[in-house]
Amino acid sequence: EMFGQLTSGLESAWNKLKGEEVLTKENIVEPMRDIRRALLEADVSLPVVRRFVQAVSDQAVGVGLIRGVKPDQQLVKIVNEELVKLMGGEVSELVFAKSGPTVILLAGLQGVGKTTVSAKLAYYLKKQGKSCMLVAGDVYRPAAIDQLVILGEQVAVPVYTAGTEVKPSEIARQGLNEAKKKKVDVVIVDTAGRLQIDRGMMDELKDVKRVLNPTEVLLVVDAMTGQEAAALVTTFNIEIGITGAILTKLDGDSRGGAALSVKEVSGKPIKLVGRGERMEDLEPFYPDRMAGRILGMGDVLSFVEKAQEVMQQEDAEELQKKIMSAKFDFNDFLKQTRAVARMGSMTRVLGMIPGMGKVTPAQVREAEKSLKIMEGMIEAMTPEEREKPELLAESPTRRKRIAQDSGKTEQQVSQLVAQLFQMRVRMKNLMGVMEGGSIPALSN
Ligand code: GDP
Repeated sequence: EMFGQLTSGLESAWNKLKGEEVLTKENIVEPMRDIRRALLEADVSLPVVRRFVQAVSDQAVGVGLIRGVKPDQQLVKIVNEELVKLMGGEVSELVFAKSGPTVILLAGLQGVGKTTVSAKLAYYLKKQGKSCMLVAGDVYRPAAIDQLVILGEQVAVPVYTAGTEVKPSEIARQGLNEAKKKKVDVVIVDTAGRLQIDRGMMDELKDVKRVLNPTEVLLVVDAMTGQEAAALVTTFNIEIGITGAILTKLDGDSRGGAALSVKEVSGKPIKLVGRGERMEDLEPFYPDRMAGRILGMGDVLSFVEKAQEVMQQEDAEELQKKIMSAKFDFNDFLKQTRAVARMGSMTRVLGMIPGMGKVTPAQVREAEKSLKIMEGMIEAMTPEEREKPELLAESPTRRKRIAQDSGKTEQQVSQLVAQLFQMRVRMKNLMGVMEGGSIPALSN
């Protein structure tokens, strides 16, 4: 089972919440410790673990429980969302050149699976209907050229070779010319790795990159090396500039550290993953599926989603009834404003709700601040006042008391009351119910 140890480490976190009614600062301490330990044991880099644990804790105690969802299930959902985010959120697609051949330059240390990936990638793209050509640029490991030729035959993709005596940048130049002549869609250039990073390799890669002007520069890294893989991606990106990474050997007993650290540490996405030695074992890196596999809790996640939908549906229906009967009060006001504020922080976190892209962090902060002020005032109201805002519209004394109790000005309270009635009208209009929508003037 991929990342099995990580999965069971996280399981102990959920288990600690069994029987709890809510998520609190206190009862998430132990589960968060488990999550932290599980990630460190999976070889996720420490700063990443710290940020991750902080983000999960903040959300766990900041978010109201969904009706019918237990605290442990809620935590699974939050961890899932944060894992997806950690791995880059969306799948990061390969980019293709608008005109002329797309050039993909592959780099990586020796033994990571670079030559294998070259052929796998050609096979993968061929299945998508693209014609490919491989260029054997690994002059450092003599067997690499023969290996690529054999793999090329296996996937029926031509391989350009020029032996080991020609400079890699020259091989690249010749290979690219050949590809242009043949009008292939994609040229994949294998390069020479080393046992470890050295100046010679970096300079060579820079030369090759200059000659090719590649569409993609992908660093092949071995998942077994954990957070070291993330460090490599960072170094190669600084040295030669890359567009992403390919993570190999995910089928082995790698612990997950590489998959979870690469994006966060280097800022570069994992674009593809290798999950075996066969030519068909290469696939796009899907952060959501990866998170799902790590958690092994698909049923819980879809249950929480359903519960959330149902709750939103019920709330919306209830709200609609209230508005229709002009009973929209301060309790509803609070509920609705909170829902909007939650959406705001979600947008900030995910940045992927369509149509909400224009909400800036400053606006969200502003909304959260004014929600706090409103909450203070509404909390200072009596239950009766909350349900009958008219009482406040009619009585300056009541408004004065609320202002004093909440530490706000009378003007702020009046504004809030006016806002509620404006909201009633606006909602009524929105629903096409035009009668009875006047805003009462506040009496002094
Ligand atoms: P290079 O030195 O980077 O070109 O590495 P190779 O392509 O020669 O691969 C090194 C070894 O790793 C070979 O035995 C490959 O079969 C193996 N390998 C490559 N990718 C994968 C993978 O995704 N999973 C597994 N299990 N083995 C792989």
